[in-house]
Amino acid sequence: MSNIQDMVVIITGASSGIGEATAKELASKGAKLVLAARREDRLKKLQEEIQNNGGQAIYKVTDVASHEQMEEVAEYALKEFGKIDVMVNNAGVMPLSPVHQKKINEWDMMIDVNIKGVLYGIAAVLPSMRERKEGHIINVSSIAGHLVFPAGSVYSGTKFAVRAITEGLRIEEASNNIRTTIISPGTITTELLEAISDPELKSAIVEDSKIGIEPASIARAIAFAIEQPLDVAINEMIVRPTIQEL
Ligand code: NDP
Repeated sequence: MSNIQDMVVIITGASSGIGEATAKELASKGAKLVLAARREDRLKKLQEEIQNNGGQAIYKVTDVASHEQMEEVAEYALKEFGKIDVMVNNAGVMPLSPVHQKKINEWDMMIDVNIKGVLYGIAAVLPSMRERKEGHIINVSSIAGHLVFPAGSVYSGTKFAVRAITEGLRIEEASNNIRTTIISPGTITTELLEAISDPELKSAIVEDSKIGIEPASIARAIAFAIEQPLDVAINEMIVRPTIQEL
C-alpha cells in the first residue's frame, strides 16, 4: 500500500494541467483530495471523475490571491477530513512579455498568484502542521526559477521567489518535522500559454512548446516526493522533456 493512502492533500490550480493530473494520480493512490481553483465547472467535473473511479475528493472555489479564501480552503479540509498532510501550491499564471511593454496588470497578476498565492497557501496550512509536527508543503516553481528567458523577467522573478521562499521554509520548519519540496517543470503541455497577450510572442512560444510532455509526468514526480517515508524529504526536483536543452 502506498504511503499516500488516506493522506489529506490540498491542490491549488486543480482545474487544469498539472494540478488536475496530480489530483488524478494521488486519487488513484488513495489520497483524500481537496481541489481548489476558480473554475467551478472544471472542479466539479474532476471531482465526479475521481469519485466514479472510487477515489475521494471535495472541492472549494478559491482564488489563491485571496488570503481569506486560502484560509477558508484549509479550514474546509480540516472540517471535512480532520487534518492536512500535504499542500500542493501549484496554481500559477504566465503572461509573458518584455519589460518595456509595461504590462503592469500582468506583472501584478503574476506576483499575486505565483508569489502571494504560494505564501497564502503556506500560511493557511502551517499552523496545523506545526501543531501535529507533521506535514508536507510542495511548491511548483519552474525551470524559469533556475534560468531567465527573454520576455520572462517577471515570470522568472516570481518563480525564483518560490524557490527562495520554499528553501527558507525548509530551514525554518525542519525542526518541526515539516517536509518541503520544490518542483521545477520544464515544458509541459497545458493551458498555461493561453494567458500570453501578445499574439506574435504567443505563437512563437507555442511553437517552442511543441516538445512539451504530459502533465502526468509532473504528477508522478509529486507522488514520488509524497510517498517517501516521512523522515525522507525530496527537497527539489527539475523535470524536463528529455529533448529540452534549456
Ligand atoms: P494551467 O494553465 O493548465 O493551470 C493553471 C492552474 O492555476 C489552473 O487550474 C487555474 O485555475 C489555476 N489558477 C490560476 N490563477 C488562479 C487563481 N488566482 N486562483 C486559483 N487558481 C488559479 O497551467 P499548468 O498546469 O502548466 O500550471 C501549473 C503550475 O505549473 C503553474 O504554477 C506554472 O507556473 C507551473 N509550470 C508550468 C509549466 C508548463 O510548461 N506548463 C512549466 C513550469 C512551471 P482557474 O483558472 O480555474 O482558477
